[in-house]
Amino acid sequence: MPVPVATRAVPFFDYQAFYTRQAEMFDRAMKGVLTRGAFILQQEVRDFEAALADYLGVRHAIGVANCTDALIIGLRVAGIGPGDEVIFPSHTFVASPSSIHWVGARPIPVDMGEDGLIDPSAIEAAITPKTKAVMPVSLNGRTCKFDAIQEVCDRHGLVIVEDSAQALGSRFQGKAAGTFGAIGTFSFYPAKILGCFGDGGAIVTDDDDLAHQARLYRDHGRDEATGQVVQWGLNSRLDNLQAAVLLAQFEHYPETIARRREIASMYHEGLGGLPQLKLPPAPGADPDHFDTYQNYELCADRRTELASHLRAQGIGTLIQWGGKACHQHEALGLPSSPLPRTEEFFQRCLMLPVNLFVTNDDVAYVIDHIRGFYDN
Ligand SMILES: *Cc1c(COP(=O)(O)O)cnc(C)c1O
Repeated sequence: MPVPVATRAVPFFDYQAFYTRQAEMFDRAMKGVLTRGAFILQQEVRDFEAALADYLGVRHAIGVANCTDALIIGLRVAGIGPGDEVIFPSHTFVASPSSIHWVGARPIPVDMGEDGLIDPSAIEAAITPKTKAVMPVSLNGRTCKFDAIQEVCDRHGLVIVEDSAQALGSRFQGKAAGTFGAIGTFSFYPAKILGCFGDGGAIVTDDDDLAHQARLYRDHGRDEATGQVVQWGLNSRLDNLQAAVLLAQFEHYPETIARRREIASMYHEGLGGLPQLKLPPAPGADPDHFDTYQNYELCADRRTELASHLRAQGIGTLIQWGGKACHQHEALGLPSSPLPRTEEFFQRCLMLPVNLFVTNDDVAYVIDHIRGFYDN
């Protein structure tokens, strides 16, 4: 039988289209910065920080170089260091535990719950006298069960430092991801929902003192008001050019989220009922969670074959993080006790394209080919 030729290209993410789709808007924003020579800690950084804080309903937002730095600085200002243990979900990007490692603390991986996110009862079971903090990760644009997590942390006197890299605009019971702990952190890596043309990140907090310390850390320990060096610091500033790129898009952020939710609904309708798939919850399925669908990640029977089948049809998919949970990266020497839910998840997970470059026809095409794969 002849192999059918792909009739469409639906890349997983289109880095070129990211710029070209809105080139005029971006050119205007960048030209403003370039012609003024305003590169480091200038107006666009301040404006973006103000817009971000306002959007999240939080007192402070501090632009930094990337989310990994945001986590490192966040843990440090929250007082986490050598001798401490920090509990995190093994179902996350390696940046979550590496930030814990780089403040000198010990990352303790735990299993996920039914929802794919950190299991509050697994947190409780992993607590030792050395435990100082928990790092919940709101993955794929879905918030963790923060009521249960906060209850456990309050009872044991633990600090929450949120890895909300994938969850800008996601809400749990109406409250924004990133605002549940002492510190929240965001990534503006290009493929994140709000991305820039390189690396970028932010720290958010309601605590004036933590915010002040974070500002010192990101700029060589220099006090903004006096310019004096008042402590050891780093260079982890959000570039002003990237801030301009972020600000330009941020105006349309609600539409961006709405479009992702629309695509998720289409996938849900088109793929619902296939017994070989476990889909993420549809938008609005659970009134406690407002999902932004940073990713549309499902679990699938024969997922590697499905991915090849889709690739042959011009459809890009992604098996996140090389198909491994953090505790499965042997080189890191993390505690390796089995985390059964997480391990099973990584045998079956697959992400479908969900971004602003995907058209409704693209989504229908992806659905048809997934259905076709299981029909045969
Ligand atoms: C992207 C990401 C990070 C790291 O963000 P960078 O800005 O690339 O440093 C951390 N945690 C999670 C869950 C992420 O998805």
